[in-house]
Amino acid sequence: ELANRMSEKVADVVKSLMTNGIMATQTQTIDADTAELIIEEFGHKVVRVSDADVEDVIDAVEDDATDLKPRAPIITIMGHVDHGKTSLLDAIRNARVVAGEAGGITQHIGAYQVTTDSGQVLSFLDTPGHAAFTSMRSRGAQVTDIVVLVVAADDAVMPQTVEAINHAKAAKVPMIIAINKIDREAANPDKVRTDLLQHEVIVEKMSGDVQDVEVSAITGQGLPELLEAIALQAEILELKANPDRAASGAVIEAQLDVGRGPVATVLVQNGTLRQGDIFVVGEQWGKVRALVDDKGDRVPEAGPSVPVEVLGLNGTPEAGDVLNVVDTEAQAREIANYRAQAAKDKRAAAGAATTLEQLMANAKADENVSELPILVKADVQGSAEAIVQAMEKIGNDEVRVRVLHSGVGAITETDIGLAEASGAPVFGFNVRANASARNTANQKGVEIRYYSVIYDLVDDVKAAASGLLSAEI
Ligand code: GDP
Repeated sequence: ELANRMSEKVADVVKSLMTNGIMATQTQTIDADTAELIIEEFGHKVVRVSDADVEDVIDAVEDDATDLKPRAPIITIMGHVDHGKTSLLDAIRNARVVAGEAGGITQHIGAYQVTTDSGQVLSFLDTPGHAAFTSMRSRGAQVTDIVVLVVAADDAVMPQTVEAINHAKAAKVPMIIAINKIDREAANPDKVRTDLLQHEVIVEKMSGDVQDVEVSAITGQGLPELLEAIALQAEILELKANPDRAASGAVIEAQLDVGRGPVATVLVQNGTLRQGDIFVVGEQWGKVRALVDDKGDRVPEAGPSVPVEVLGLNGTPEAGDVLNVVDTEAQAREIANYRAQAAKDKRAAAGAATTLEQLMANAKADENVSELPILVKADVQGSAEAIVQAMEKIGNDEVRVRVLHSGVGAITETDIGLAEASGAPVFGFNVRANASARNTANQKGVEIRYYSVIYDLVDDVKAAASGLLSAEI
């Protein structure tokens, strides 16, 4: 590898190592200092890049509280298929934009902003659903501040509604319930509210603290109230960012445009992104040639919570990649190359990612309590519940098992996505993973374990949990 990167012959590098008293073979790993010595001997320049170097360059300095200014909340709409996510997104966009803007036609760039009657600006992610949400999370970008959970009043809580609740909870993002299709004759909003109780979501009408709003994406009924509910939730969250620093943000969408080259929609999370800024984004880098907002207009800059299309990339990044503005093109290129190489190394070492055993080593320490996150899929509801109950009994003051999601049916890609995002293994009880889930799990290194005896499952988790305990001591 070292020979490769210097464009030298492997034999020459091995020879040079031997001259220095290191009897290395072609595939042996050598330490950084030795590598540096050899590189210099060959007359090359050493560029040492590590995660720590990258952090230095991308300016991870904490903001002073006095520099922080309020920013718009970022909202993702989730819910069961056909409950009206897309219709609701369209209704909100059309009502607001057509009313407020000359011309009125929005461009689809993956996110848009609207202003409520009381003047609060809200940023909506334009890709509804769980897949986008989890894949962003698994790439390290948490962009959602508030989840609007759409539940059709004529259908009540369905499997994907439950899944969405678990996703929101796993990400610790507050929810607002939009009880949709209230115009339908069969609408029964109270059934939605009681159904939600079973999943520990207690809405305000039931004396809980989760806001619920009755809406119709078709007639527009309740939309202003929904927007005000979001604005209220945002106020409680006191969302802030520092507009006066080098920008950082997350990629929401990216594609190769025939006319314009690689284009990425970036949601700025901190700082202000400006034309001419040099940046690194995932394994790509670039210099901002132009910024285009959600109305299709060129803008000179974009501050916190503003979605913009960025032109001037050298390649196409992926959704969820993080963008950071840096000082020089050399830095941007170096970090992008380092990341590309690191990703390649990681793929080469794939297969050993999220095993139960490894979780013991790297379980997230939440103050003094270690959490062992897991996902459970079972053939029948009764088994799923029995397993969850058994899991909750495992653990003590130091270790806790956390069931991120439990459900009935085959293990799907969505399950794998959630598992990967949270570093959890997936347990199948009398169910298997479907083919696409198996493939994804292999690729991402998510462990799937199958059981047909609850006792065995409990034993394994207990062993893992006690491993966590001893690892801590
Ligand atoms: P998604 O799969 O959650 O994005 O759902 P869609 O937005 O595609 O909506 C599914 C169907 O429900 C479509 O035929 C919509 O026209 C219809 N729909 C959505 N919202 C409402 C509503 O508020 N009232 C009525 N009557 N129909 C709705």
